[in-house]
Amino acid sequence: MNKLVFATNNAHKLAEVRAILEPEFEIVSLADLNCNDDIPETAETLEGNALLKAQFIHNKFGLDCFADDTGLEVHELNGEPGVYSARYAGDAHNSENNMRKVLSLLGNKTNRKACFRTVIALILCEKTYYFEGKIKGDISLQPQGDSGFGYDPIFVPENNLLSFAQLSSDEKNKISHRALAVSKLISFLKQNTK
Ligand code: IMP
Repeated sequence: MNKLVFATNNAHKLAEVRAILEPEFEIVSLADLNCNDDIPETAETLEGNALLKAQFIHNKFGLDCFADDTGLEVHELNGEPGVYSARYAGDAHNSENNMRKVLSLLGNKTNRKACFRTVIALILCEKTYYFEGKIKGDISLQPQGDSGFGYDPIFVPENNLLSFAQLSSDEKNKISHRALAVSKLISFLKQNTK
């Protein structure tokens, strides 16, 4: 069986990927490896961070591995918060403060275009591959809805009236940036491994 590490501590992401790839692939988590290291995320791009995480695990354990990184990119904020999405509000970072900072920097601007972008870096047989998932949308004037996480309450996906936080998780997972990147990874793995 093909063994692949998914360099994440997020149980939800892990379950989602395992459900699709097993039994053809054995997906190993950081917890399975007893890996509690503080994996560096110091790059200035999503691609860079995804690669840093995958390389760290590959170098330490010698296993094929993939890792993801996601950011919200707001057009009028020159692509911010982007790679800084998790810690956008600085020391006081949490979802509420991060969203507040985006809304306050955007003020009353009419161009509220944004996208969520996920990049997955895969190291397979010493080669590196990238998979991108992107969904366009708009930043709402105020947070709406309370499901999901992160910036979901202020992101209204294209051709929708509701924010990500007003959609069910099933509805969000059908169209999300992460689902798209994962589905590209999965088609690649199914075609390129036996
Ligand atoms: P990560 O790379 O998946 O850990 O995502 C980095 C940050 O982006 C998270 O801390 C969230 O603030 C934000 N983020 C990632 N994915 C989503 C999403 O699907 N909805 C809302 N916010 C997200």
